[in-house]
Amino acid sequence: MNLTGLSHHPIAESSRALENSDGLVREETSGRLREIVQDLQQHQVELEAQNRALQETQAELELSIRRYSDLYDHLPLGYVTVTPEGRILQANLAAAECLQRERSHLAGTHLWSFLDAYDAGRLAAHLENCARTGRHSTIELALRVKDGSSMMVQASSRLAVPAPEGGNQIHLAITDISKLKEAHRLLEDINREQEAFNYSISHDLRAPLVTISNYAGIVMSDHVATLSAEGLTMVQRIQGAATRMEATLKNLLQYSTLAREEIVLGAVDVDRSVADLLVEHRGIIQERQAVITVDRPLPDVRGSAVILSQALANLLTNALKYTEPDKSPRVHISAERRGTNVILKVADEGIGIDLKFHERIFQIFERLHGYSRYPGSGVGLAIVRRAVDRMNGRIWVESQPGKGSCFHLELPAA
Ligand code: ADP
Repeated sequence: MNLTGLSHHPIAESSRALENSDGLVREETSGRLREIVQDLQQHQVELEAQNRALQETQAELELSIRRYSDLYDHLPLGYVTVTPEGRILQANLAAAECLQRERSHLAGTHLWSFLDAYDAGRLAAHLENCARTGRHSTIELALRVKDGSSMMVQASSRLAVPAPEGGNQIHLAITDISKLKEAHRLLEDINREQEAFNYSISHDLRAPLVTISNYAGIVMSDHVATLSAEGLTMVQRIQGAATRMEATLKNLLQYSTLAREEIVLGAVDVDRSVADLLVEHRGIIQERQAVITVDRPLPDVRGSAVILSQALANLLTNALKYTEPDKSPRVHISAERRGTNVILKVADEGIGIDLKFHERIFQIFERLHGYSRYPGSGVGLAIVRRAVDRMNGRIWVESQPGKGSCFHLELPAA
């Protein structure tokens, strides 16, 4: 450190005092001088350490900025920062690519220039809402790009941390969903065709089957005397197969109707639905000497009474069916509230289901047993799942072989 220019510095003062002093004072002054020099050296060491720490922090900061810019620029997702009025402040490379503009030309441009009037209005309302409520939300838009074509994108908006210069800023993450939309449309077309096909097959095939079954019945009742024992067995088999096929087609028709029909959702009185269900099934309940218990009152749900009854009927008949033949079925129907939803439970003490089949049984035609042991078509649970889907709910089973099954049906509370 250079002290020569510092006329009022303690060291300079001490030196001057030293020059002008006699022996004793000179000694005192030089002692003080040494202390000051030591202090100064100590300060200098501390300053150098602080300086080094500062340089390291600055290097880290620069590295973080480089990393952030690299990440921002090369995100596989368009990212733009806009004012609530839609003026672009900043955009990353993916956004520039998506909007088919040079990035340097984007700042200052309005997002509206990439949209038609309809979408511009929707986006304006979306940004205004984001700025006002601070809520994260998404919107689908058709971007008009340079070559005149349009691209479907999903924009997710989020309010940015307040900028030092003031005023709200909104980050928009833009994802190209045109391929997804196209695939979705294609899938919907295929599904519609498939459903129309299923519907006509199951509908048109039922009539000839009913005829076969009826004629087999007539042959057995009116011509039994002229039939050999073997002939009678064969006609019985024909009728049995026709009846079975008819039941499958009836279920298939129900399954495809569920996908096609318009459904109006509203409050459903589950207590009433279950009471009606038990009356409708009292024949089979008595026949199987089943014990059914219900945890009343069951809470109301939001759904469709008709569809919910179909689903519950299938769960109840399965619960009555999949029990060891020598045992009387015991079924317990209950409900549990979870947040804004209600979980309806249909529990039995029957044969149970291995964990590896818990998902598969909801697929159409999936059966775990032979027809002779437990007759069925493998459509019942597929109908239940579709019914629950249409009511915006979920269905799953908890079960173990030999320990019974509990089907859970989760629906929004009414
Ligand atoms: P199915 O007409 O065969 O009863 P479902 O679609 O209703 O068709 O059920 C599919 C399969 O799931 C059944 O074949 C059976 O193996 C199994 N399953 C359904 N419900 C139960 C239950 N309560 N207990 C045990 N297994 C069941």
